[in-house]
Amino acid sequence: MAGVPAPGAAAAAAPTAPGERLGLRSDWDYALHLPLHYVDETRVTPIAELRESRVAVVQARVLQAELMTARRRVLRVVVEDDSARLELRFFHFYPSWTRQYAAGRALRIRGEPRRGLFGFEMVHPVCHALGPDAPLPDRLTPVYPSAAGVSQAWLRKAVAAALRRLDAREWLPQTLLARLQLPPLGQALQLLHAPPPDVEIEQLEDRRHPAWRRVKFDELLAQQLAQQLARARRAEQRAWPLPARDGGVAQRLLRTLPFALTPDQAACVAEIGVDLQREQPMHRLLQGDVGSGKTVVAALAAAQAIDSGMQCALMAPTDILAAQHLRRLAEWLQPLGVGVAWLRGGQSRREREAEMARAASGEASLVVGTHAVIQDKVQFARLGLAVVDEQHRFGVAQRLSLRAKGAGEQRQPHLLMMTATPIPRTLAMAVFGDLDISTIAHAPPGRQPVRTRVFSEQRRDSVMHRVRELVLAGRQAYWVCPLIEPAADSPPGPKAQPELRDALATHAELQALLGEHGDCVGLLHGRMPAARKAEVMAAFAAGELRLLVATTVIEVGVDVPTASLMVIEHAERFGLSQLHQLRGRVGRGHDAAQCLLLFSEPLSATARARLRAMHDTGDGFVLAQKDLELRGPGELLGQRQSGLQGLRHADLRDDADLLELARGAAAELLREQPQAARAHLQRWLGGGMDWLAA
Ligand code: ADP
Ligand code: MG
Repeated sequence: MAGVPAPGAAAAAAPTAPGERLGLRSDWDYALHLPLHYVDETRVTPIAELRESRVAVVQARVLQAELMTARRRVLRVVVEDDSARLELRFFHFYPSWTRQYAAGRALRIRGEPRRGLFGFEMVHPVCHALGPDAPLPDRLTPVYPSAAGVSQAWLRKAVAAALRRLDAREWLPQTLLARLQLPPLGQALQLLHAPPPDVEIEQLEDRRHPAWRRVKFDELLAQQLAQQLARARRAEQRAWPLPARDGGVAQRLLRTLPFALTPDQAACVAEIGVDLQREQPMHRLLQGDVGSGKTVVAALAAAQAIDSGMQCALMAPTDILAAQHLRRLAEWLQPLGVGVAWLRGGQSRREREAEMARAASGEASLVVGTHAVIQDKVQFARLGLAVVDEQHRFGVAQRLSLRAKGAGEQRQPHLLMMTATPIPRTLAMAVFGDLDISTIAHAPPGRQPVRTRVFSEQRRDSVMHRVRELVLAGRQAYWVCPLIEPAADSPPGPKAQPELRDALATHAELQALLGEHGDCVGLLHGRMPAARKAEVMAAFAAGELRLLVATTVIEVGVDVPTASLMVIEHAERFGLSQLHQLRGRVGRGHDAAQCLLLFSEPLSATARARLRAMHDTGDGFVLAQKDLELRGPGELLGQRQSGLQGLRHADLRDDADLLELARGAAAELLREQPQAARAHLQRWLGGGMDWLAA
């Protein structure tokens, strides 16, 4: 019959097991594969009472079936019950179906009624050859998230089987559940997969129903338990205490800096200073908007470590950023007698070995670099502090391996992570519950707000001329070409090229436009050798280059205070935090700064909202909050950020209250019923959570 294939049929036909295709393996995976929608098949609706677009079940007899081949082949079946007639239309069908819909046949039909020329019709309804006496289901029918080739019928059967086998023993104490007004887990799962007809479907589909809250709570609880256990484990670890020293490098650096710390910076320095004196390893995130001045805070932390006779390693995600840190930190610290080493990819072997030797001997107290710093061969004489800049660009494993560099005598280095992606409080709690956080909320004084304007790509020419005028008048500008992400499944290579081609073409265009001044237009992209990139950046920083055409390699950290104009092409392709990071490259000096966003149609609603937000505010926290609303936490934290990919059910936009409850409950459970806590964690860890690693 049309519609539902025999359960199990898909399993036999499919090349890979259907469950695998959805990532479902254990019974828990199936039990937690929760429906998106429900269909009420528990009641039969008379045809006369159908309502437009409201999916319904009718019980009717076939009046006639005919194959029409006018413009398109259509199988048209007219059915009727005691109240009215209904037309069914099938565009994809087998010839044998005409026989199956022989006149007089009793059918149970489920579909979405649409108003046609002669009353209601349904396109591709699901039909069963069932008489009016056949029993109706007594539960709502779940509709699951699925993938090509995995039928709903197969999923329903597989989930039901998993639920029968499942060990859904209740691990959480009755008192806790009663207090939070949450149902027992087994009951909640049963309800979600097979709700009784009187339940409010809306509450289920909006995920507000107590059964949904129970599942989300359990997920958040597992995550909070994992974090609190990690924190407890950390408290057992040892680090070398690094007390501040009178007259040391830190104090002298403070005196020689060309500026005074802002109160926020001073507070962060103090918080870090206290952590460093402890015998437990510091595990702190320093967050502050782009340009808020995190580097100097890191430099002062490094100085305190160096004053205790220990080394500091600083790791940054890109060559450009590492080179900039090197330049700035060397400028600040070398005059105070601090030895600095540099490790990066693409260094000549001799150079690298020399730098590594200085790290291993302890001659260099500060080692700055890219990922090269965490390679196995790199050794430190006495690593006391590890600093990771733009930490969200690194994976968990990379952050941890830097820490492992100091494991001599069972002591770990202190860890300071920095990020310019400000994180809303709820998110910080969920992802970094295991972390202490210091925040620089206000940028140093004297900053000019960046004026942001949005233009259609059609006005690109006039924007180019405007940029030309400003550059000729002595301003320095960035022109950013979009990063086109190659599709995840396509091989790297040709697909990654458009980015480069855009940058190259734009570079040539702008050079031509500037005529005799064409020499002051530079080009920077990710495929240039590191040394060449460093040269270009240095020339731009020195003002020899006035206009820098770049890909998003300049996105993080680049600091050239004299640059005051930023153009971003195809701004609609960038994420909000990326746009904010890019814009943060200007407005660092004393000149009034501008950011011009060029977009091309068509603009999606989200892209429009992003550009609007960029236009309306320069506040990174406001933008981060907006980003969270627009795109969800995964995007905000970037692909590499582990910890949130694991959250499948809870949504931090809606479930902040549950997160607070889970946090409290986790502490209580670990204290009072550690067995239950572990059982709960075990259950969820089986589902592929990787939070423990963070
Ligand atoms: P980010 O937080 O984005 O890493 P940086 O550390 O690169 O910011 O600082 C941005 C700019 O602000 C740098 O040029 C830095 O020297 C300058 N800066 C930092 N702190 C202060 C301050 N207290 N007063 C004036 N300028 C400062
Ligand atoms: Mg920085």
